[in-house]
Amino acid sequence: MIKKTPPTIVVIGCGVIGLSSALSLQELLRNDPSKSSWQVVIVSKEWPTSIPGAPIPHSIEYSSMWAGAHVRPIPATTTQLREEGRWLKQTVMKFHSLLKSGDQIGLTLTSAIEVFEAPGSEYNAQTAESFEAESGLEGYRELTAEELPNGTTFGFEYESYCINSPSYCGDLLRKFIIAGGKTINATLRSVDEASTITSNVQFVVNASGIGFNDSKVFPIRGHILLTNGTCFDKTITRQNLDGTWNFIIPRFFSGGTVIGGTKEPHDWRRDPDSVTCRRLLDEVEELKQYASSSSSSSQPQNISIIREIVGRRPAREGGVRLEIEFPGNTHSTKSKLPVIHAYGAGGRGFEISWGVADGVAELARSLMAKVDQTKGRPAKL
Ligand SMILES: Cc1cc2nc3c(=O)[nH]c(=O)nc-3n(C[C@H](O)[C@H](O)[C@H](O)COP(=O)(O)OP(=O)(O)OC[C@H]3O[C@@H](n4cnc5c(N)ncnc54)[C@H](O)[C@@H]3O)c2cc1C
Repeated sequence: MIKKTPPTIVVIGCGVIGLSSALSLQELLRNDPSKSSWQVVIVSKEWPTSIPGAPIPHSIEYSSMWAGAHVRPIPATTTQLREEGRWLKQTVMKFHSLLKSGDQIGLTLTSAIEVFEAPGSEYNAQTAESFEAESGLEGYRELTAEELPNGTTFGFEYESYCINSPSYCGDLLRKFIIAGGKTINATLRSVDEASTITSNVQFVVNASGIGFNDSKVFPIRGHILLTNGTCFDKTITRQNLDGTWNFIIPRFFSGGTVIGGTKEPHDWRRDPDSVTCRRLLDEVEELKQYASSSSSSSQPQNISIIREIVGRRPAREGGVRLEIEFPGNTHSTKSKLPVIHAYGAGGRGFEISWGVADGVAELARSLMAKVDQTKGRPAKL
């Protein structure tokens, strides 16, 4: 007898958004006895590998492999930033609980320092209370004038997360598979192709990072240096008057240290350039001294580059697209099944990941309720 494929949710993409969403969907199905036979399948053209510098063929678009990554809240001054701020707080709460559970998944709670040559008024308005209320992160404290690095006029410290991004994504994939998740290695030409990649697909989650032919999507180029640095126990970010950035992000769990970096919207250059590399190395010297002088354990170290990295942050005008697209109402995907879109996280995919994933699960819950009403005939949704 041929075994029938269980009702299936297909998630396109194995970046941090696809993985977090797939795990949230598994949890949703676990908590609903009427859906115990359902399964989640991730289909993707690229998959996590956690060995920095290994000759892996990850593309410049597979953003999750190149991210620093740290959690660095941005004051919520616009509607989009307020929404992202809510997702960030949900993510911080989830990180807290993952850490409490004792699972070693590439997350480290550590000190974060931000310093500014010329801070905007939104930063000056922050207090310990407002910062913690908005982000869920504790330990906010303004730096004293003596603590500020040369050329900066304002700064603060708080407890935040550093994420060894390739390792973290690999661990999320392991969790997904152990919980019964299935994987398909494929490059899709369209969202609609996902609805036929296996049988009995109920709906699709599009977590493809850059989406499919969405004219609002654009890259923010990031040129960073992955180094052998092991002397840092905190992440430090400096925002300069001319709009440039310097940051140090330790990748705990033997992942070296990321030194960055650029944020260049609409810049399609694929290769690292030597001028930026030199600038980043020169400018990090001061932060390096600063990191070791403000730490009890760290010693300055001669740092060498393991790999120069250019990655693309998948940005979108108006921010993340998180919504259901129904068949027939569509002008973008022409999918025959409902699609939950979850792409365009820009430079914040890790720090908002669990908030977006919760949103995906919430939309999935409403779709599944409709499938129930139509007795499993998803085409009539
Ligand atoms: C240099 C740099 C530094 C960063 N620093 C930070 C940081 O400190 N904090 C932070 O929160 N974020 C940071 N980011 C941003 C973060 O990396 C992204 O927001 C995040 O990785 C986006 O995740 P995603 O899952 O949406 O997309 P991706 O990681 O790009 O994943 C997309 C997935 O979809 C798959 N896919 C795409 N198209 C298809 C197709 N046609 N068929 C099949 N599969 C497909 C891909 O193979 C991949 O698996 C940084 C990014 C860069 C480049």
